[in-house]
Order: sequence, then C-alpha cells, then structure tokens
Amino acid sequence: MKAKSISDYTVCSDGWKMLEKARADGVVTVWDRYEGQVPHCNFCEQGLSCRNCAMGPCRISNASESEKHKLGVCGANADVIVARNFGRMVAAGAAAHSDHGRDLVETLHAIATGKTTDYKIRDPEKLQRIAEEIGITTANRGINEVAEAVSETFFSEFGITKGELAFINRAPEQRRELWKKLGVTPRGIDREIVEMMHRTHMGVDNEAVSLLLQALRIALSDGWGGSMIATELSDIIFGTPEPHASFANLAVLKKDQVNILVHGHNPIVSEMILAAVEDPELLALAKAKGAAGINLAGLCCTGNELLMRQGVPMAGNHLMTELALVTGAVEMVVVDYQCIMPGIVQVADCYHTKIITTSPKAHFAGAEHVEFNVGNAKENAGKLVRMAVENYARRNASRVEIPGVPVSQISGFSNETLLKALGGSLDPLIEAIKTGSIRGAVGVVGCNNPKIKHDHGHTTLARELIKRDILVLDTGCASVALAKDGLKTLEAVELAGSGLAGVCRALGIPPVLHVGSCVDNSRIIHLCGLLAKALNVDISALPVAAAAPEWYSEKALSIGLYAVGSGIFTVLGPTPAITGSKTVTDMALSGLENVVGACFAVEPDPAKAAVLIDQKIREKRGALGLTA
Ligand code: SF4
Ligand code: SF4
Repeated sequence: MKAKSISDYTVCSDGWKMLEKARADGVVTVWDRYEGQVPHCNFCEQGLSCRNCAMGPCRISNASESEKHKLGVCGANADVIVARNFGRMVAAGAAAHSDHGRDLVETLHAIATGKTTDYKIRDPEKLQRIAEEIGITTANRGINEVAEAVSETFFSEFGITKGELAFINRAPEQRRELWKKLGVTPRGIDREIVEMMHRTHMGVDNEAVSLLLQALRIALSDGWGGSMIATELSDIIFGTPEPHASFANLAVLKKDQVNILVHGHNPIVSEMILAAVEDPELLALAKAKGAAGINLAGLCCTGNELLMRQGVPMAGNHLMTELALVTGAVEMVVVDYQCIMPGIVQVADCYHTKIITTSPKAHFAGAEHVEFNVGNAKENAGKLVRMAVENYARRNASRVEIPGVPVSQISGFSNETLLKALGGSLDPLIEAIKTGSIRGAVGVVGCNNPKIKHDHGHTTLARELIKRDILVLDTGCASVALAKDGLKTLEAVELAGSGLAGVCRALGIPPVLHVGSCVDNSRIIHLCGLLAKALNVDISALPVAAAAPEWYSEKALSIGLYAVGSGIFTVLGPTPAITGSKTVTDMALSGLENVVGACFAVEPDPAKAAVLIDQKIREKRGALGLTA
C-alpha cells in the first residue's frame, strides 16, 4: 500500500506545515494515534458489543454459525444491543449540550440575585422578549426580577415539574401534534436522559423501536430544550451576535505577542478571558516582558461563541487543536469542557504551553486546574492572563513557526440579524425560495474525524451546495473549515449559483452564514420553525436539509436525531455504529421517513452527499408546487 503523504490527512495548508513540524519535533498527533487503532473492532463498529452488565462484556454476531454467539449472556439480540448502545450515545450527547445550558441558567440566576457582578445582562431587550415568550409577566418588573423568573422557569425545564418544554411552541402545530401522537414530546430534559439510562439497564426496554423513540425524545429535549436554552441565555448574558469581520486559521497567532487560546464550549469562561486580555495593566506587563501585546484566539466551539459575538479570530477546529500548539507560539490554552482531546496535554509538554482547566466537571491529568465560578471568574481570568504573560519568557523562538496568512471571514448571523438584514420579515427569504433564487437551505455542521480527510467533507459539500443555489448555514467545527476555505467572504458569492449570488449581493451577505457553535444548531431549527409557521406547513415540507460530513461526537448524533425528529433530512459522513441491526439501520435510513417525515442518509463522499441533498430539495420543492 502506498504510504500516506501529509496532504492525505487534511486539505488545510496550515495543517500540512504543522504536521511536518510535528513529525520533526517528535510530537504524536491524533492521526498517529488513529493509525495505532486501525483496524477497529468489527463488533464495536457495528454496535454489537455490550458492557452494560457484569455478566458480559458480550459481543455477538448474527453471521455466526453457532446460535449461542447470536445473543448476549442475558439473551439480548442484535436489535436490542445496537438500539441500547445508540440510545446511550444520544443520551450522552444531549446531556453534554444540556448541562452546558444549565450552567448558563445558573449564571443568569446568579446575576439576577446579585451573587455575581462579574457577569451582566448585555441584551435586556432579548431577556424581555424571551420572558414574554415563555409566559412570564414583565410589566412593572425590574430586569433582575425578570431574569430571576426566567432562570427559575428554565431550571424547572430540567426536571419534571412542568408538562412540556417551553420552546416546544416554536415548532409548528403540525409537528407538535405528531410528537404528541408518537408520545415523544419531551418532558424534563434530565428526565429523558435518566429514563434512557434506566431503559438500557439489563432487563428493562428490550425492543428496538421503543428504545429508538426514547432516543428521539431525548434528542428533541436537546434541540428544543437544553441547546436552545444555552443559545438564548448566552445571547442574553453576552449579547446577541451581529455580523463581525474577523479571520481564521493558525496565522491568527502572533509571533511577537503573548498568544492565549480558549478551547471548549461555554462562553462563561472565554468571555472573562477576553475581558482580561484587554486589561491595560496586563497589556503593560506584556510589553514589559518584551511582547507587543496579548493575542486571544479561539478553538472549536468556545471559539465560535467569541467569534460570533466579539469577532475574536478562530485558530482552528477539532483536528487543528494539537497542531495549534505545534506552532510553538502558544503560551496558554484555557479550556472549559467538551471536545478537548486529552492528547493536548502531551503535545503541550513538548513546548512551553500551559494547559489550564477551569471547570469542576473537567479535570485533565497533567494540566493546571484553576476553577472558575460566578464569584471568582473575573479575578481568575486576570490571574490566568498574567500567568500566560509570565510564560512568554519560556517561549523558544527558534521553535516557533506560524504558517501562512489569515483568511478573512464574516461571522455573527443570529436569527435576529438575519431578520434585520431581510428588513424585519421573513417574506423576502420566502419569496427568494419561491422563485428559486434560493432553492433551499442546508445546515452543514459538526466535527472533524480522522476517519475523513480533515475539512474535505465540509468544504466540498458546501461548495457543491452553494453552486446549486442552496444557502449554507454552518456551526461548530464545520464553520471553521468553511471560513478557512474563504467561503464566508463577500467574494465567495462568485462560487455560488446565479440565484443565490444575486440574493447575497443584494443583502451584502456571504453564501455561507456562520450561525454559531454546536448548541446554536438550535438557531437553525428555530428558523425552520418560523419559516414553516409563515408558510403554514410542517418543517418536513420545507426545502431544507442538514449534514454532518465529519462528525465524531455523541453530541452530533443527538443533533442529527433532533434534526430528523424535527422533519429535516440529515446526511452523515461517518457511519454510526448501528449496522449490526437491520431493524435499527432500516429505521434510521428509511423507516423514520414514515414516522417523522425525515430520515438519515450515510454518505462519506461529500460530492455524492450534495447530490442526495439536491434530490431531496427537488422533491420538497416539487411537493410545494415550486420549480425544482
Ligand atoms: S446486558 Fe446482556 S448483552 Fe450486555 S453485557 Fe450484560 S449480558 Fe451481555
Ligand atoms: S463540532 Fe464536534 S468537534 Fe467541534 S466542537 Fe462541536 S462537538 Fe466538538
């Protein structure tokens, strides 16, 4: 077999340079570790292994000649084992998003009750709007009183004190009726997750379809619950995003400055670090230490949060996180939680970089832990930036290499901004869809995965879609890939079909709109809900789709399932571990269509995925009586 070259791993030129440097510096990266794991276990790849009890672990095979190898020790067959494993993955993904949302509810409550002065409400108008939407009286009430009532309502969404989640009403009536009929309307967010852990204990729910419906219910509680709460409260506390010009790729690091990276998901920590790097006293200290300034850049979704609201440049996505340290120019990485590879601690050890963990939920062996809470956030952010400045002296200039030049991007397209750009109403967008100038819209979202050439899936798919007059909305690590590819500039309209290009030129927007982090996929389903209501149809009738061409995370499975459960056709790149069960696979790839009006497709080739999506959009347009 031909040996792999650097360009087989990633499409990014900054990635090529840093992979070469990593090899020269003796650094082991995620791709090296991946190669150490292949071939993966065939049972696990198909979802046919189970560790749910101490009679196991079991691994079963329908292909086995012996009957006794077709069932686990308890008698569970392939359908049950695959569905249980899938259900637990969705539960874990939804738990991660929703627990992030809960942290924001706690922060809002702390602001409202005076337990913190480090955080403020930056968008009181949105607070008012959300309060009224969820039935809280705002008349003659002060901002803190309203914030307290909002946070208490959202606290209750996690438990079981209410019948349904408040934001469910954002879905059109047809969809809500369908959920009710199927018995999947989410109740409390935590309740759905706990119930899946209960059902998947040995000897509880032993029927694949029943388990899949509960997985669907959990996913809906994530999309229309935990994630949506996280998005809306982040906007209230840190400001609703508006378009910002910024930059992307490793060249946003500065050779002559103290470089600090924030990595993880929750803006509660990263927003405080941003405030601290602007502190004149710390800037003066940096100068005294010989640096020209303090440079803050983002990685992954906490980077997306800062980019969307503050225009902070983005250094890279999931598979670039280790390579960012290989530049030798990073003084500190401040992390909160989720998607932070433990491997970065070993990579940091090869340089002078300090890894700082901040969440009581996320400790890393070998990293320094400085815990953030609402009472000490400002103080600790200052302390960390000071540590980073002090660490600048330990940088070895001869080992520094920052590749390339930064690529421009425009970010910050919240639904509020989009509505504003459209003149306050969705009508111009609906008109553009009706005339076919915009044939449809697709959320290109999700992670990187070393099983797929880094960023190839995202960039190829997005280019193919905009060429076909399909607007792309992106979030998460996909959004970093598309920014680095130059697709979030006004010049990128040249790559779009003539209809989409015309609309983008008229509105002054790129053909790929950055709508945020992973939890902000809730902005996309909310927008779908608004469009469906305006057209008086179900979401499943809209010419829209979703794709996660390089997903890896359990969170991405939850997102994919809530998209499908909301009526949105969703294409996955890597195959989920369900192929060991024909029942579960058939359900995911076609059966769900009859149940919720949408299903999954799996297509690792992004050009072929674009064709699948194009066909689906043609079908939807035809059913609405629109030209294909
Ligand atoms: S729950 Fe059943 S299949 Fe799973 S490990 Fe226990 S005995 Fe094996
Ligand atoms: S897109 Fe995936 S890898 Fe990236 S931050 Fe989100 S969950 Fe993590």
